[in-house]
Amino acid sequence: MRDPYEVLGVGRDASPDEIKAAFRKMAAKHHPDRNPNDPEAQERFKEINGAYQILSDPQKRAMFDRFGAAGLGGAAGGGSPFPGGVPFDIADWAANIPMDGILGDLLGRIGIRPGERGDLQKELRITLEEAAFGAEKELSYDRIEACNDCAGSGLRLGSSPKTCPQCGGRGRIRLQQPLFPIVIERDCPKCGGRGHLIVDPCLTCRGAGLVTKTRTIVVTIPPGIEDGATRLVARGGNVPRADKGPGDLELIITIQPHPLFRRENDDLVTAITINYPQACLGAEVVVPTLDGKGKLRIPPGTQPGSLLRVKGKGMPKRSGGRGDQLVEIRVEVPMNLSSRARELLEELASELGAPADQATHSVPTPGTSTPTPAKEELGFFSKVKSFFSSR
Ligand SMILES: [Zn+2]
Ligand SMILES: [Zn+2]
Repeated sequence: MRDPYEVLGVGRDASPDEIKAAFRKMAAKHHPDRNPNDPEAQERFKEINGAYQILSDPQKRAMFDRFGAAGLGGAAGGGSPFPGGVPFDIADWAANIPMDGILGDLLGRIGIRPGERGDLQKELRITLEEAAFGAEKELSYDRIEACNDCAGSGLRLGSSPKTCPQCGGRGRIRLQQPLFPIVIERDCPKCGGRGHLIVDPCLTCRGAGLVTKTRTIVVTIPPGIEDGATRLVARGGNVPRADKGPGDLELIITIQPHPLFRRENDDLVTAITINYPQACLGAEVVVPTLDGKGKLRIPPGTQPGSLLRVKGKGMPKRSGGRGDQLVEIRVEVPMNLSSRARELLEELASELGAPADQATHSVPTPGTSTPTPAKEELGFFSKVKSFFSSR
C-alpha cells in the first residue's frame, strides 16, 4: 500500500479541508471515465479513494501516523469491515449493489442490472432524406455514471461506512439448518453482501454512488444507410461500476416513413395521377424526387398502373451511384363533367366503340359499383412486388 499522504499529494500536517480538496481534485482527474485510454486510471482511482478513506477518518489517520499501513492492516483480521487492510474498496461496493430502494429504481428505470457491463441500446430516428444523403445527428440520452460528489462511493464526504452489525463485516451470514449438520452461507441481507452500511449517505446520489446524467453526442449517418442498421458508440453506455469504465452504446437506426416515397432496396417508389388525355397522348409531368422537383415523360398510350423509371433518383448504392425512382401511374376519372367535356367524351366513345372483350362481362347495374381505394392500394403494392420479383 502506498503512503496515503503521497497518493493525495498532501503534507503530514494537512488539515481535513486540505485533504478533502486534494481528494476532490485527484478523484476528478483520475476518474476512469475521464481516462478511457489509460488502463491504470482505475487502479489510481481506487488508490485515491483508499487514501482518502484513511486520511478523512481521524481515528484511522492517527493509526496510520503511528503504525503505518500495519496499523490498519492489523485490524483486518479481527472482523474489520475492510479485509486486506484496504479501508474501502470501491470495486467490492459496486459489485454488490443492492437491487432495492433508490438505486434499484434508478437502475431499473435505465434498464441495467448490477454486474452488467452497462451496455445501452437506443433508437435513432432519421428521415428518408437523411438516410439518402447522410447527416450529422445530435442525440441526447440519459446514462448512469458515478456520482462526482462522492466519487462513486455513496458516502457523504468525510464519512465512513459502518460495519454491518448482522454479518460483522463479512458480508456473508451462516444459516444452521435445524435438523441437519449443514451450514449454509449466503449474502448478508442487511448489507447486501457489502459488509458495511452507509449511515451518512452522499446528498447528491442519496447513497447510491450513481447518478443519471444526460449526455449529447453527434452521430454521423453515412449516405444510403439501411433501416434497422446499427451503429456502435464505444464507451457510450452506462457506467454502473466506477472501476470498470463505461459500457457501449448501440444505436438502432430507424428510418421514418416518408409521405411520398417508399423504399425498395436502392429504389424509391412513388405514385402520380395523370388524366385520361395525358395517358392517351403522352405528356411531360412534374414528379417529386428526393432532390426536389423532377420531370417525367409519359409516353403516349401509358396504361394505368404502369411503372415508369426515373434513372438515378433513388437511394445511394453501396457500389456507388444511385438506384432509380419508380413512378406508378394512376389515371384520374373525372367525377363532374362540364357539358362540353361530356359532349367530347360521347363523341370519343362513339369513335372508339366498345372494347372487344366487353361482351363477355356482365354489365353492372348503374350506381351499384362504388370505388374502393383500399383495393386499389392493394393492387398497387402487389404490382410493385411482382415488378421487383420479375427483375
Ligand atoms: Zn451484513
Ligand atoms: Zn454521491
